[in-house]
Amino acid sequence: MEMSRSSFRLLLLGFLLVSSYAASDSVYDTFVQCLSNHSAPSHQASSIVYAQTNSSFTNVLRSYIRNERFNTSSTPKPLIIVTPSDESQVQAAIICSRDIGILLKIRSGGHDYDGLSYVSDIPFFILDMFNLRSINVNITDETAWVQAGATLGELYYRIWEKSSVHGFPAGVCPTLGVGGHLSGGGYAFSIESPWEKTSFGPSEEVAELALESYCHIRSSLSECPKLLQFFGSRRPWPKTPLT
Ligand SMILES: Cc1cc2nc3c(=O)[nH]c(=O)nc-3n(C[C@H](O)[C@H](O)[C@H](O)COP(=O)(O)OP(=O)(O)OC[C@H]3O[C@@H](n4cnc5c(N)ncnc54)[C@H](O)[C@@H]3O)c2cc1C
Repeated sequence: MEMSRSSFRLLLLGFLLVSSYAASDSVYDTFVQCLSNHSAPSHQASSIVYAQTNSSFTNVLRSYIRNERFNTSSTPKPLIIVTPSDESQVQAAIICSRDIGILLKIRSGGHDYDGLSYVSDIPFFILDMFNLRSINVNITDETAWVQAGATLGELYYRIWEKSSVHGFPAGVCPTLGVGGHLSGGGYAFSIESPWEKTSFGPSEEVAELALESYCHIRSSLSECPKLLQFFGSRRPWPKTPLT
């Protein structure tokens, strides 16, 4: 009996799905092995890596997709998601992605407007920082160490716990990731009066780098020359509000 065209298509689709899962499984095995080789023996590599076949894969992927346009079944998916719980695993994940030759996307809060932290047209991994979210506020010297996966809301809260007069002028959306915000995506540097005496600011170097990349990307913005001049002429870190 001749196979109908639609049955043939179904068979082909099934075959393609099976081979894509098999490929993803073999990438998973190679990656986990590599991660074990590069991290401390106490860390179990397989517990932080999600393959497409893992029942939690979709949940982990979608938890930090903050743009619904990319939260669809046709959005390209990563081959694996790595969720380090220790800084050494971040380093190992970067080494392993490079060695295997697969693009690595880093995601902190997932608020990138274009989904750059979790979408790609070529095969990719996600390095998801949500387990790395510790915040250590030192009111005495007015500094804070914050891991990339913390959200702005968590940071505001931890500062509030320690002081009723300090704050961090980063923006109005509490679910933003500190990683993507401080590495250049945040635009709240232009929020009015950001550097009052009672506020924390990012370190001078981080702020300058972020501002330069912001101005580079949005080169048409008229306030950029003024902001850059402001930074250049006011060292150390400005304590007065922008006018
Ligand atoms: C709904 C919404 C509200 C917003 N509100 C504000 C606001 O009030 N104030 C403001 O300043 N900005 C705001 N933004 C802009 C926001 O700050 C940027 O989009 C920022 O990049 C988001 O960071 P994220 O970590 O949440 O995003 P992600 O999508 O996780 O990351 C954004 C980019 O940074 C990269 N990245 C993330 N983490 C790291 C890391 N650890 N190391 C290296 N690269 C990393 C990613 O690969 C991606 O390219 C808003 C954006 C949205 C969508």
